[in-house]
Amino acid sequence: MNSESRKVARIIHPQWVMEGAGVKLKRSIATQTLDYLDPFLLFDHFGSDDPADYLPGFPTHPHRGIETVTYMLAGKVNHRDSMGNAGSIQAGDMQWMTAGSGILHEEMPQPLDGKMEGFQLWVNLPAKLKMTKPRYQEVVSKNIPEAKRDDGIKVRVIAGHVGDVSGAVTEIYADPDYLDVTMNAHTAFSHPIARGHTAFAYVFDGEGTFEPNGKSIPSPRLVIFSDGDQIDVTTAAQPIRFLVVSGKPLYEPISRYGPFVMNTREEILQALEDLQNGTFVKG
Ligand code: MN
Repeated sequence: MNSESRKVARIIHPQWVMEGAGVKLKRSIATQTLDYLDPFLLFDHFGSDDPADYLPGFPTHPHRGIETVTYMLAGKVNHRDSMGNAGSIQAGDMQWMTAGSGILHEEMPQPLDGKMEGFQLWVNLPAKLKMTKPRYQEVVSKNIPEAKRDDGIKVRVIAGHVGDVSGAVTEIYADPDYLDVTMNAHTAFSHPIARGHTAFAYVFDGEGTFEPNGKSIPSPRLVIFSDGDQIDVTTAAQPIRFLVVSGKPLYEPISRYGPFVMNTREEILQALEDLQNGTFVKG
């Protein structure tokens, strides 16, 4: 059996949006252009040289029915939640938070050495896990496994597998890949992705091609792949850095209201009622 290379199905230009208490960020999923890429509900790229663009942060807000995944390139995000957790996600660190039945938290970006940059991805949960007990997987930079090759390609494996390197985050329903790939000029990188799984790349530095004989795609762009067995990325004169994210689609109805994503409108109303009654956090 030959393995089929995935093609570029769609290229998304991120849109500037204001979120939280006034954070300017680039959004590629959860817009009018791309509402949902099952199971991915949102993808944001934040960061600026001007702290005024992000210091207002994301004061206390709820989540229910989803997972939020924060990965930092520079600076940090201080966080605190309704279960008494508090900490700081710093450059190179990631936090995979399964909100499940509900958490209330705040996320406050701060610069380090004048810089702050990172990503937040929302992963949908299936109906049977929407009210699961909240859970965190937090991995500091030095504990994120890296696959390094002789040609200089470096892959930080946040989730999934690259060769015999297994990702830092496990036991996620979507069976995700979350890779941070750095390639030098004139190199080629292939990565198998299970047939039927949704897959995208997010280019945030440099440029490269994302299908055999494809056109060069510059940053910042979100590249959605068609189905197939693997992705094939090549560089010409420029190096590139990008994320690869994949996951099993749910094919379930969604009812969405800000930070709550459930299956029905009744469940959204219940979340709002719980919030009002002070019964939102189940522990
Ligand atoms: Mn949040």
